[in-house]
Amino acid sequence: MLPNRITTLIVTALLVIGCTSSPTGRPQLAFKSEREMRQMGEQAFTQIKAQTPLSRDGQAIRIILCVAEAITSRLPAEQRGAGWEVLVFDGNAVNAFALPGNKIGVYEGIFRAARNQDQLAAVIGHEVAHVIARHANERVSTTYAAQMGVNVAQAAAGGSGTYSGQMMGLLGAGATVGVILPFNRKQESEADVVGLDLMARAGFDPNQAVPLWENMGRIGNEKPPEFLSTHPSDETRMKGLMSQIPESKKLFEEAQAKGYQPSCGF
Ligand SMILES: [Zn+2]
Repeated sequence: MLPNRITTLIVTALLVIGCTSSPTGRPQLAFKSEREMRQMGEQAFTQIKAQTPLSRDGQAIRIILCVAEAITSRLPAEQRGAGWEVLVFDGNAVNAFALPGNKIGVYEGIFRAARNQDQLAAVIGHEVAHVIARHANERVSTTYAAQMGVNVAQAAAGGSGTYSGQMMGLLGAGATVGVILPFNRKQESEADVVGLDLMARAGFDPNQAVPLWENMGRIGNEKPPEFLSTHPSDETRMKGLMSQIPESKKLFEEAQAKGYQPSCGF
């Protein structure tokens, strides 16, 4: 077991090194390297691919790739990276996700909620926003710091050492922990705001985000779609989304004027 002082120093160092800010200026704990997060994202994506059949619906695939490409191609160069991998999965799940390492997955069932290309762009924009805002890194870092904090407290209380065992457990679980768990409400609201911005810059109408989330909610009344279980929605979140629409509307009009007028046949 590490002496208390060293453990405390490590926690302090992580908190200092890892404190950055999100795209909306929110202070954020994110001390995992981009490389580590990319590896975690790729590993999770490989796992999902192994478990989930790919769509064979040519039209659904074309539409989803078209919308995703329109959004990711308008990202700043450092976020575009070497490009984004987009896969469409078979099945009725009303679900979509994006992972560190620039991976996007959309299930065919998303068309039960997204009724036009702008509504689909609202979903994909929201998911890409989680990645750009490093929400997975924040979640992994917070979990990690909390775990370290528990250890400091235990050590201070004279508790004896399962320290290394717990650390190893956490590191071992690190391959998947935090990548596909639900985000918290702050992160959801932030993904809404950043997502609106992303869709608008690509020339999709941000007004359509409202009916999209309403459709999600309606489906949720029957049986909560998978998307809602990982993306808790509430009134506060909808208000936050709506208050951002006038700002995004300006970006949308600018994008349209520049000729960004996606036409994805939907
Ligand atoms: Zn979300």
